[in-house]
Amino acid sequence: MTQQVPTEHSAQFAESAGQWLQDNVPQRWREHRGTLAEEESIDIRREWDRQLYKAGYSGLSLPSEFGGQGLGLAEEVAFSELAARAQAPDGLARIGRILTAPTLIAHGTEAQRARFLPPILQGLETWCQGFSEPGAGSDLAGISCRAEKVDGGYAVTGRKIWTSFAAYSDRCLMLARTDPEARRHKNLSMFLLDMKQPGIDITPIRQISGGTHFAEVHFDRVFVADDELIAGEGDGWKVAMTTLMNERGGVEAASRYVEMRADMDLLQHMCGDNPRRADLLEDLDRRTDLVRWQISKAVTLEGDEAAFVRATSILKVLWSELWQTITETGVRYATPELRDHWRFQYLESRSCSIYSGTSEIQRNIISERVLGLPR
Ligand SMILES: Cc1cc2nc3c(=O)[nH]c(=O)nc-3n(C[C@H](O)[C@H](O)[C@H](O)COP(=O)(O)OP(=O)(O)OC[C@H]3O[C@@H](n4cnc5c(N)ncnc54)[C@H](O)[C@@H]3O)c2cc1C
Repeated sequence: MTQQVPTEHSAQFAESAGQWLQDNVPQRWREHRGTLAEEESIDIRREWDRQLYKAGYSGLSLPSEFGGQGLGLAEEVAFSELAARAQAPDGLARIGRILTAPTLIAHGTEAQRARFLPPILQGLETWCQGFSEPGAGSDLAGISCRAEKVDGGYAVTGRKIWTSFAAYSDRCLMLARTDPEARRHKNLSMFLLDMKQPGIDITPIRQISGGTHFAEVHFDRVFVADDELIAGEGDGWKVAMTTLMNERGGVEAASRYVEMRADMDLLQHMCGDNPRRADLLEDLDRRTDLVRWQISKAVTLEGDEAAFVRATSILKVLWSELWQTITETGVRYATPELRDHWRFQYLESRSCSIYSGTSEIQRNIISERVLGLPR
């Protein structure tokens, strides 16, 4: 297995980005992020998005003609890792930057890109992702949220669930069914829906770790204009695949890797003197290295869509399940002063084998596309 060799350019990038993060991560976030009131936390995260843009760290891997920095996934991933090390806030514009922006670049019109990309990159508009529904998550093609044709656009009616940041969002990247008669995968369309209009009811859902960052959202004949449809009517599945490919990329894995390394240091601190736990620690340590290698591997495959999807499916299973094992181990051997830490990490890690496609779904992809097994 090869580790990516840093080029002179990437080393320079890492140095200046690391310095900028060191100088700019808000002290209040560094010291109190776990205990801040929801409102203050949101304000800090929004302001962070704007700072990223001003400093030239927003849209690192997006082409410069669309307002991005014209760098590659390597820089995007490197920045994610550095930001996690510097304990930077998790910007609220992340869904817009990582999901909506590349989707618009691949499938949007010139007018849509001109309208939506600048506020995404500047951190001025927050997006959510309206894919999952109470009856359709893994089976995304089975959604029932309906977009009915009306004069000048569509009226959207239905329910979405687990919608991260719905309560703070200006827009929703919304997958809905436009043709009840058409074949599966041909009956869906993707919209850029305005979340600040009547007919939208948002009910926050409390997570097991205590936060309420996602919600259930009801839409009752919510208007979305014709020019807020991405690609054509019936092209929603194709557009959604672009979104999901970007969601499962290496950016989140890179920040989770940093978190796992920090948790491994704590495990070492708690169990390092106990020879009976040496094999376990060594195994977890090697698997953490493996995550880092798989991130590097995925980065080298940027541009080769099929290979990238295969590599990131493997990466998602590796990091999410390893993090759960690390936190389980932490809970098992926690010393009294670290119990709260491990309790939080354990609960937080439960969701990561579910979102962006469950481990079972990633394994289906791996078995079909990597191993060539029949469906
Ligand atoms: C923290 C968090 C944030 C999220 N944010 C968003 C968001 O912003 N927007 C959004 O749209 N969604 C979001 N989701 C939803 C997420 O995408 C879904 O939960 C996920 O796709 C699984 O769908 P489901 O919950 O309906 O479970 P189901 O699809 O009902 O799956 C239930 C179980 O069956 C298994 N299963 C299902 N189908 C198969 C199969 N074919 N083969 C083998 N096993 C299978 C699954 O692996 C799982 O174990 C979020 C979820 C979480 C946990």
